[in-house]
Amino acid sequence: MSPFRRSMTCQSNSPIYHPDLCEPTDIQGMPKLLLSACLAGNPVRYDGGSKPQSHHDLELLLSNNQVVAFCPETAGGLGVPREAAEILGGDGEQVLDGLARIVTKSGEDVTDAFVTGARQALEVCQKEQIQVAILTEKSPSCGGNLIYDGSFTRSLRSGAGTTAALLKRHGIRVFNEHQIDEALRQYYALSEKGNEQSK
Ligand code: SF4
Repeated sequence: MSPFRRSMTCQSNSPIYHPDLCEPTDIQGMPKLLLSACLAGNPVRYDGGSKPQSHHDLELLLSNNQVVAFCPETAGGLGVPREAAEILGGDGEQVLDGLARIVTKSGEDVTDAFVTGARQALEVCQKEQIQVAILTEKSPSCGGNLIYDGSFTRSLRSGAGTTAALLKRHGIRVFNEHQIDEALRQYYALSEKGNEQSK
């Protein structure tokens, strides 16, 4: 049975539990999941806001400490609030290759902070053996498929943000806040595979 289906009875094969429905099942040893901190409700966005997600299974994983909530921009040394920034002349791939820069609306170059934050996100994933990340779409750090185009006109272009691009380069599967079910399917499938291999 899918671990995503809500049930009125305990699903003994589910790697998570609902305190009202089940006894806790053993989730020790399961790898963690990376989540953009703003999606976890942390007020770390450039404007001091957040983007909390209401999702049953994700909330259970959060309450079971199976999720690492991480903000690459604050980890890279930027404050809250901070000036909005966009990638100029490319996407996160090109930023990582030194071919594009990230600038604020007033023209300050913040590339180094973004790259530092991306590297820290990768370090966290490697330390925690994280294979799946759910990151905020359209962010110059976290966007997986879409980012703003550097014109500060709310125009989008295809491409990944700097952190998403670095994680993808290292084989981590990146999903966005509209793909949480799909991300958790991958997460559980990979966790199960890992458990079988370690038996
Ligand atoms: S860098 Fe990522 S986690 Fe931090 S506020 Fe932006 S989208 Fe959210």
